[in-house]
Amino acid sequence: MPGESAFIYSNRFGEFSFGGNHPFKVERFVLTYRLLESLHLLKSPEIRIVEASPASDTDLLSFHRQDYLHILKEFSREESRRADFRFGLGDLENPVFKGLFDWTSLCCGGTIEAVRQVMDLKCRAAFNMAGGWHHAHAARASGFSYLNDAVIAINNLLKHGIKVAYVDLDAHHGDGVQEAFYSSAQVLTMSLHETGKDFFPYSGFAREMGIGEGYGYAVNIPLASHSDDLIFEQAFQRIILPMLSAFAPDILITQMGMDILRTDPLTRLEMTTGAVEFAARAFLNTGLPWVALGGGGYDKLNTARGWALLWAVMSGQRVGDAFPETTRTLLEAHGYEQMLLRDRPHLAQPDDFCRAQDQLDRTVSLFERRLFPLHGI
Ligand SMILES: [Zn+2]
Repeated sequence: MPGESAFIYSNRFGEFSFGGNHPFKVERFVLTYRLLESLHLLKSPEIRIVEASPASDTDLLSFHRQDYLHILKEFSREESRRADFRFGLGDLENPVFKGLFDWTSLCCGGTIEAVRQVMDLKCRAAFNMAGGWHHAHAARASGFSYLNDAVIAINNLLKHGIKVAYVDLDAHHGDGVQEAFYSSAQVLTMSLHETGKDFFPYSGFAREMGIGEGYGYAVNIPLASHSDDLIFEQAFQRIILPMLSAFAPDILITQMGMDILRTDPLTRLEMTTGAVEFAARAFLNTGLPWVALGGGGYDKLNTARGWALLWAVMSGQRVGDAFPETTRTLLEAHGYEQMLLRDRPHLAQPDDFCRAQDQLDRTVSLFERRLFPLHGI
């Protein structure tokens, strides 16, 4: 039935640990779920709560190499911590722990299910906050990502001739997804991120536009550090929305990493929750079947707030700014002091704003010459 929204979840999303000192905390999934419950955002009859199940080997093999999957499964079965740096496994960034394969394959299955909900079951939108592992390569873990759920879900769609637009809003460049479809004109990948000049994964420059048939179907919008919501919204108006409209995909898949928020300890983009709501409304207004995935976000409370606001827009629900008493108790237990759902507005310092504006203007000017004419813009 049109108008329904699917929220993909499993209690097992929060059952594993990357280790006490690792910036990625699975607790954010549980926290987001509890926050949504306490804000009454999971109750409407138009909302389906759908249990995630693990991805199949056939799905995983559509992108990942057999030897990589074999090692991942083997390491995941053992109590002792193993490492194989050829596959990016077992270092501080991508730790190995018992149950790792089960956990990452469940996250990946959640994304496949989200796509099924919008394409086969005709939900208007679906959200898998445990997806968005955009740095994983075919045979190498990278940037906390082991299995590339977006690539695997998109591969399933391509078999049926479906045109896909993938928009990645995480603070880091969506390098793994771009790489997978770099020579394809059937998938438009767009990534808005903090410039990779001196920032992981050191890629995602505007000049990276695809190769062969895929030339013009990879779009990168690097933003200067210390940007703000005004720059973010301009990138939407001047690049992302016109490209989406010109490409006219059958489905929109977005990666909604919350490491764009000001409080994130690993990044410097400095957006507020206003940028998240703006992006969510813009995506909803395209009218396309829409799958949103999670991604980065290392301040777990603010990640939960950002995703709560995203979900409210996706599912067509209003949510106020003041927390009900039960929510205050939940957040206070996590040391949260600012008792509003939304951030206060924040504008970049004038020097930073000028730098960010200049960087965006240069990107748009390159696209006016090289990219937009290919799409009739
Ligand atoms: Zn990130």
